[in-house]
Amino acid sequence: MGDQLNASHSWYQHKEDTVLYVLAELHQEVNYVKHHVQKIAAFFLSMQAFAKALQLAGHHVLHLRLEDTALYADLPDLLMQLCDRFNIERFEHQRPDEYRLLTQLQGINFQSQSIDYVCVDTEHFIVPFDDMNTYFKQGKATRLEGFYRKIRQKHNIMIQGSEPLGGQWNFDADNRNKLKKSDLACIPEPLIFDNEISDLLLRLKNHKIEHFGEMGSTLIWPVTRKQALALLDYFCENGLPLFGKFQDAMTGNSDYAWSLYHSRLSFAINAKIISPMQVVNRAISEFESRPNEISLAQIEGFVRQIIGWREFVRGMYWANMPGYAELNSLDAKRNLPSYFWSGETKMNCMQKALSQSLKYAYAHHIQRLMVIGNFCLLTGIDPDQVDQWYLGVYIDAIEWVEMPNTRGMSQFADGGLIASKPYTASGAYINRMSDYCSDCHYSVKEKVGESACPFNSLYWHFMDRHKERLSKNPRIGMVYRNLNKMEKQLRVDTIERGQWILENLHSL
Ligand SMILES: Cc1cc2nc3c(=O)[nH]c(=O)nc-3n(C[C@H](O)[C@H](O)[C@H](O)COP(=O)(O)OP(=O)(O)OC[C@H]3O[C@@H](n4cnc5c(N)ncnc54)[C@H](O)[C@@H]3O)c2cc1C
Ligand code: SF4
Repeated sequence: MGDQLNASHSWYQHKEDTVLYVLAELHQEVNYVKHHVQKIAAFFLSMQAFAKALQLAGHHVLHLRLEDTALYADLPDLLMQLCDRFNIERFEHQRPDEYRLLTQLQGINFQSQSIDYVCVDTEHFIVPFDDMNTYFKQGKATRLEGFYRKIRQKHNIMIQGSEPLGGQWNFDADNRNKLKKSDLACIPEPLIFDNEISDLLLRLKNHKIEHFGEMGSTLIWPVTRKQALALLDYFCENGLPLFGKFQDAMTGNSDYAWSLYHSRLSFAINAKIISPMQVVNRAISEFESRPNEISLAQIEGFVRQIIGWREFVRGMYWANMPGYAELNSLDAKRNLPSYFWSGETKMNCMQKALSQSLKYAYAHHIQRLMVIGNFCLLTGIDPDQVDQWYLGVYIDAIEWVEMPNTRGMSQFADGGLIASKPYTASGAYINRMSDYCSDCHYSVKEKVGESACPFNSLYWHFMDRHKERLSKNPRIGMVYRNLNKMEKQLRVDTIERGQWILENLHSL
């Protein structure tokens, strides 16, 4: 599969004449949602490069293109026919990270063809698949912090004696600054690549593969191990020193606003071109060799994302699938407005985050969570539609990581399995973390009136309509005390304005 490009896997450590490795561009994989063109290109080009590298290393490889797989109904159909054609006695696959694919593979009746069937580990994640039930239980709310500490201790990552390095597990309070005007000129130019795509685009056209989003003249994302390692080096050199500090910052006033100090390694890691431990070890050795430039708060912030959040969402996905995909605890039913596909809205924060997503197939965490996700949550968009949009648009979107982040963390559709409270915010938060509001059609200071920031009244409308459920949550009690303290007429007008916005979402 396109997300199983782990060249260090034990499969490839010996050459076997009787083993045939199959990589396939599948129509089912490009069609299960409509994808951003850069996402399809990144997976297909990476598979092409991987197949070539395996061949050069002396392995037998069958790399099937869209034209080769067009006549097969789906993955099981293709596999059965290949087994027949090559007289296969034993079929092995790496465990897929998506429930959908695992179900398909486990449904194939290899026994009836007298073929031995083996599913092996991908040898990629820090927590082996069979150990995940130690940390995660179906239907049980689980928080990142406890899991993260256990993983750091177990793998002795930045631990001194039995204590975390620096005596603290979490340095969030030192991080998460806004970018000042004087910081803008220092944002590093992102390292991008120049991968040829004309042949691939022609093939997508010939096969009538639907896609959306922009594509430059070449693909800028890393598709080989060499490129991924170069991006990791570049990040350690240029991004890591300020990673945590500006992790949550957003700006509309820099050519590099889309990349800032983020690593942009998620595609390469998720496709398994590089491993999470390799990334973490490389970053830690950079921190150790530049103690005056890279503070503990920066490296801890980065390590937490990879050994913490990334492994955590995978655990929550597998503990709760398949039911997780159906959860809609806030009963959200509205349709996604059309500007999610065009970026054309008067809300500057949304315009910037959506346009950037369509241009680069990328937005950083806070844009995904506190701008676009927050908007969907406040407006009650159907989580199926939100999931599909996120799964289609982002370069790194694979269901096991996309869904818990979107349906769980961002939309609270799981009722709190992942997040202890909904990640909602009014315009004040966006104004605090960005310079978007000063260039916006709307006024962030106002709650009511035509020019008032939509996030403000939507925030209070959300809190008001879900008060039955949320006012019992001790983490948001304060919000309800503030709502109760609001001057009566202002409260009525704010809720009214929120209602008007909900009924006119498409015109914002
Ligand atoms: C609503 C929503 C949807 C998301 N969908 C995806 C998705 O489909 N695929 C995906 O890989 N990430 C997803 N994320 C997490 C995060 O936004 C991306 O991993 C990150 O923006 C990728 O950019 P980067 O490589 O520059 O990350 P950096 O900011 O440089 O972070 C370093 C690495 O940490 C890991 N990471 C950070 N946060 C998370 C997280 N919450 N979950 C998992 N890994 C994390 C990633 O591997 C990332 O490459 C989502 C977050 C939200 C809020
Ligand atoms: S004023 Fe509101 S809509 Fe405009 S950028 Fe700020 S938060 Fe977004």
